[in-house]
Amino acid sequence: MADTFVVVGGDAAGMSAASKAKRDDPDLDVVVFERGEYVSYGACGLPYYVKGDIERLDDLVAVTPEEFREERDVDLRTGHEVVAIDREARRVTVEADGRTLEQPYDQLLVATGARATKPPVEGVDAEGVFTLRDMEAGGEIRSFVEETEPGTVGIVGGGYVGLEMAEAFDARGIDVHVFEMLPHVLQPFGEPVAEVVEEHLGEQGVTLHLDTPVSHLVTDAGRVVGVHAGGEETPVDFVLVGTGIRPNVELAAEAGIELGPTGAIAHDAYGRTNDERVFAAGDCAEATNLVTAEADYVPLALTANRHGRAIGQTVTGEPTEVGGMVGTAVVKVFDLEVARTGIIDGEEARDAGFDPVSATIRAESRAHYYPGGSPITIQLVGDGETGRLLGASMVGREGVAKRIDSVVTALHAGMTVAEVETLDLAYAPPFSPVWDPVLTAAKVLGGKLD
Ligand code: FAD
Repeated sequence: MADTFVVVGGDAAGMSAASKAKRDDPDLDVVVFERGEYVSYGACGLPYYVKGDIERLDDLVAVTPEEFREERDVDLRTGHEVVAIDREARRVTVEADGRTLEQPYDQLLVATGARATKPPVEGVDAEGVFTLRDMEAGGEIRSFVEETEPGTVGIVGGGYVGLEMAEAFDARGIDVHVFEMLPHVLQPFGEPVAEVVEEHLGEQGVTLHLDTPVSHLVTDAGRVVGVHAGGEETPVDFVLVGTGIRPNVELAAEAGIELGPTGAIAHDAYGRTNDERVFAAGDCAEATNLVTAEADYVPLALTANRHGRAIGQTVTGEPTEVGGMVGTAVVKVFDLEVARTGIIDGEEARDAGFDPVSATIRAESRAHYYPGGSPITIQLVGDGETGRLLGASMVGREGVAKRIDSVVTALHAGMTVAEVETLDLAYAPPFSPVWDPVLTAAKVLGGKLD
């Protein structure tokens, strides 16, 4: 009898693994349980669906359930929730339409993702308070906005989802207030870059309430009508909470699968948990940060896809390492491209045993004489002891989203700041000054490291 590979969770990590395993070993029985109706969807596109740039929710789906079943021969069961894993008996318990069934496995992948968190304040569960994590939520928010034509939104949290949604709501003519408990938005991007973003948000008409934790949401007859923060009340028609996510680890933890120091599922270089037949991948799992060589939790799409694919290959008998990451992220905030990679935060760098030295520069995106250029701000961080490059953050109107990738490559290669300074980066007047801003930043930081 053919072996059975069971996958729990049908999005980026789960469907990458299922597709790869089936492609590499057509004799393997691949069964995927997804509790929702959508699989292989691009949650990353949801803000642009709410904004209206993307017309239909279904446009975000990469491969439909029918295609998985008919073309890829994956036994995909949507509307099926796995409620328990019995590692001893090697089977999962599944609930669907009020029925309970048991499914044996030879190898199992937990790809249960993450869920949005809400701050523990009064009113967060009122009507008119949304989070954005899945397709259903994206659909609800867009319908709400189109049907009720709200005038004002309170966004709780100035992280990347909060700011992408600020742009989306603003485009729909909604007055946007962002409440952030920290002194700056986009905390993982560092202060110099955040300050540029904050100025831009102000120019776009977004009201920022920084250093302002929300004390409670004001409700009337069960519906949100205001945000109370910093001793003041801001009347709003609805609220979007974007205060982060938490990995869905309960199913695995209850089965005795070990969690790592970050609270996400721990796994080895092949994505294997403490049970050799059980793998974990994507937003429910940790990943190795190649800068610190430690387990980290940076739940983003490429890691989910890559880990899933590698595990799909491993379960067919070809062991494949899932690989590490360096914490790269990029976000569009109105007219700005904002990107980061590696370790930027001084405390985080010191905790990892580095002696962080940082330099921030501002340079033009194009040759000074070529029309249409704009400033790019780059913060580059290196290790005072070894000269090694640790991370970078950057912001500008153009050329940032891809420029970050040269720094990413340098981080993967373990380069020093001095070596980055010698890179033969592309130059032509419409794209860059002769000395690319990344080279200028490396030169300035190199001077501080000498
Ligand atoms: P998920 O996408 O969370 O999928 C997990 C699936 O498991 C879900 O479908 C869930 O229903 C199912 N499930 C959970 N428990 C069970 C169970 N017990 N039984 C059956 N099924 C179960 N990343 C980027 O890199 N760049 C971006 O620009 C970006 N933008 C984003 C914008 C938004 C608004 C959001 C929400 C996310 C964004 N992300 C972005 C993150 C990216 O979407 C995730 O990293 C990626 O979806 C993770 O995939 P996953 O398969 O691990 O988990």
